[in-house]
Amino acid sequence: MSKKSKPQPTAFYKEPGPKLDEESPFESMMERFRFAADILELDEGMFQYLASPVKQVIVSVPVVMDNGKIQVFEGYRVIHDNVLGPSKGGIRFAPDVNLEEVKALAAWMTWKCAVVNVPFGGAKGGIRCNPKELSKSELERLTRRYTANLLDVFGPDRDIPAPDMNTDEQVMAWIMDTYSMNSQRTETAVVTGKPIILGGSQGRKEATGRGVVTVTLAALNKLGIMPNKTEVVVQGFGNVGAVSAELMHEQGAKVIAISDISGGYYNPDGIDIPKAIKYMNDNNRSLEGFPEADKITNEDLLELKCDVLIPAAKEDQISKHNAHKINAKIIAEGANGPVTANADSILEENGVMVIPDILANAGGVTVSYFEWVQDRQGYFWTEERVNRRLNRMMRNAFDNLYQVCDEHKITMRQAAYVYAINRVAETLKLRGIYA
Ligand code: NAD
Repeated sequence: MSKKSKPQPTAFYKEPGPKLDEESPFESMMERFRFAADILELDEGMFQYLASPVKQVIVSVPVVMDNGKIQVFEGYRVIHDNVLGPSKGGIRFAPDVNLEEVKALAAWMTWKCAVVNVPFGGAKGGIRCNPKELSKSELERLTRRYTANLLDVFGPDRDIPAPDMNTDEQVMAWIMDTYSMNSQRTETAVVTGKPIILGGSQGRKEATGRGVVTVTLAALNKLGIMPNKTEVVVQGFGNVGAVSAELMHEQGAKVIAISDISGGYYNPDGIDIPKAIKYMNDNNRSLEGFPEADKITNEDLLELKCDVLIPAAKEDQISKHNAHKINAKIIAEGANGPVTANADSILEENGVMVIPDILANAGGVTVSYFEWVQDRQGYFWTEERVNRRLNRMMRNAFDNLYQVCDEHKITMRQAAYVYAINRVAETLKLRGIYA
């Protein structure tokens, strides 16, 4: 990377057009990829290499349904890149899964793994189905046949799936078992996100939220704000949001608002987060009716004055329509793609520091890496060791990106893409192109 003043978009970068607010998070990702490629002055060949997936597989997955009839589903697995190591990425089951989406999500995984320095490339998979309409045994047959069709793609040294939308520990256990039966030995390292009893890792469930908090604390430190003098707003109260809120609360921060699909809950004196978690668990995993807070909308919640805003629900929450109303010093992206590409410049102009998703929520893939390491060693770590190593890797990743920000006078998000793309490109240059 050459040191220079703030770059002007040139060759690969296309100015966001008027339609960008309807863009998918993946188009946002490509905008950012092009921008970073320009900063790095990637040559056309390297750009093309990094923009093209290594392998795209479509499989037909026939399943004998409970009624005895055969139904054929379409399944995908895309390996975007395997320059840094075996490819890694989740598998989602959803009615709208398609090859384009899976391709983009696979690229996203490449950059995420590179940002936190885990030795993995990026991949993603999916089956187009409606899991809500399938019985457990249909789901099992679907998962096993999909795995059987991809036996030559998956492997602990080749491509390692993980859970994603609508897939869970049980689905991972079926994939692991199917792969193991076919290789005639138990291969726990072929998937991550498994139940602990089957070779899963301690601390995996909390890892993403824990990582969000590690980088948030690092950012607060850079801005000279003490955690116990911090007001925090969290959107989404699931795996990522509730853990982030709880750990910020433990740090002495005042969490003034939380939310879930039922709406926002605001208390300027601070919400008792353990109480809110208990309420949610006792209330069918919903915050609906949570007392000790005023009800607000999810839109209003995003605009509250605070030090840290953690969007941890879904994509496209902060766009050009509301970016100028954001009143936070730091946004830590717990969710994937909560800020659209054309909100980036508005937030930058207003001095909001955005910790980008490919860093902020990379704690999950980092502990997946730990799970793979433990499975291969056959030696399992304590939760304390997992958390210590996770904190170290997230902190190092934050510091690396912060240095790139400083060097190129760019935002943390641009720095994340510059860092990740540079890492993959440099490795590729050393490996060369096999002919
Ligand atoms: P989850 O299903 O456990 O929780 C999602 C939460 O968001 C729930 O509280 C839900 O009620 C709430 N929600 C949904 N729609 C909402 C809306 N419109 N407004 C406000 N709240 C809404 O999911 P999760 O695992 O916590 O994932 C959240 C985000 O983080 C997703 O974007 C996911 O891709 C991303 N992510 C998750 C992980 C992980 O390890 N779980 C890792 C990386 C990224």
